[in-house]
Amino acid sequence: MGKITASIITIGDELLIGQTIDTNSAWMAQELNALGIWVHRRVAIGDVKEDILATLAEEAEVADIVLITGGLGPTADDITKPTLCEYFQTRLVQDAATLQRVLHIFESRGLPILERNVAQAMVPESCTVIANERGTAPGMWFEKDGKIYVSMPGVPHEMKGIMESYVLPQLAAHFNTPAVVHRTLITSGMGESFVAERIAPFEAKLPPHIKLAYLPSYSLLKLRLTAFGADKVTTAAELTVYFHELAALLPDITVTDQDISIGEVLGQLLKERGQTVGTAESCTGGQISTWITAVPGSSAYYKGSAITYANEMKMKLLGVKAETLQTYGAVSEETVKEMLAGALQLLETDYAIAVSGIMGPDGGTPEKPVGTVWVAVGNREKMTTIKYHLRYDRERNTQMTAVYAMNELRRLILE
Ligand code: AMP
Ligand code: MG
Repeated sequence: MGKITASIITIGDELLIGQTIDTNSAWMAQELNALGIWVHRRVAIGDVKEDILATLAEEAEVADIVLITGGLGPTADDITKPTLCEYFQTRLVQDAATLQRVLHIFESRGLPILERNVAQAMVPESCTVIANERGTAPGMWFEKDGKIYVSMPGVPHEMKGIMESYVLPQLAAHFNTPAVVHRTLITSGMGESFVAERIAPFEAKLPPHIKLAYLPSYSLLKLRLTAFGADKVTTAAELTVYFHELAALLPDITVTDQDISIGEVLGQLLKERGQTVGTAESCTGGQISTWITAVPGSSAYYKGSAITYANEMKMKLLGVKAETLQTYGAVSEETVKEMLAGALQLLETDYAIAVSGIMGPDGGTPEKPVGTVWVAVGNREKMTTIKYHLRYDRERNTQMTAVYAMNELRRLILE
């Protein structure tokens, strides 16, 4: 069972100047990995004919599969299609099914059909056309000298549609790929070097076909075990034994044994208990609410948020006392305690989360430097307050605060 390899080429000047972030290759790599196909190179290039030709040749040299996105739009800057014709020494011909689809899209929207839209139905003669259910540019499958090439539009949801409906099933059928199974343990409260120290003997005895990855993300640490094997069932069973051994080494810092977000972890906990939560957010401006509501079904346990950025709103909505704000300031233990009490009363939930802090880059003082954050979680019977000193930029400080606060509530619920 040889290793099947893929290269991903993303094409577009916008990728090189950083205007568009290349999310396509990350998604494609995950999907290929799940099929047991090894991505060993990802290349981003501009809409430049010579670069496209050279990269196609280079990647086909080292990979069994070359997946390409971008440069298929109806505008002059998109040149992937004629370049593919040159590479495969073929010519453009009209594809009747694609033309039908393009005409239908424009007619149903009551739009005139331009020559450049009709041109979307021109495809290289030697390719297999892959229908694009979500747009006008079809996918194209080529085979040459034992290598597979697939060209897809750059628009992420169009690319995904083509991958899911055709490319991934075809690749799975075409290659006898090994089974790949992942298990993820998420921990908090211990840095990765200390975790590594604790599990060093476990890590040292892992067989070569089982890999351990450390993936720190905000204040959480993901430990991902990946096993490669002949079939999914046996491989998963073998991995489970190692995974349980790993989990048994870290019970005090485990957040979850699933690869899920902190919002999902908290949601599961509240759902199991039939309890509810609400938030009072100052410095996070709704980030906690966003992450809680990113989980489908969160209405079962999430009531809402009071986003009280101004002191005036902390008083009006949450009943924080003017005196408290004056004496201790908006970023203080006293204020987040009153915000918590106010949120519990306003939202009538079993638990609440309240946060107030200075996210930067300005607004810090010698007593309260940028990154000072107060968090309160709990309810009237049981409450935790914590002060953090974060040292990142505004965006990351906000996200860290949200993760910390949600994780703190998780701990309090489990206490
Ligand atoms: P194109 O097929 O070149 O016309 O690409 C259409 C649009 O898809 C571009 O304007 C980008 O916004 C987006 N796009 C292109 N390549 C990528 C990529 N690798 N990741 C995410 N978005 C992309
Ligand atoms: Mg483009």
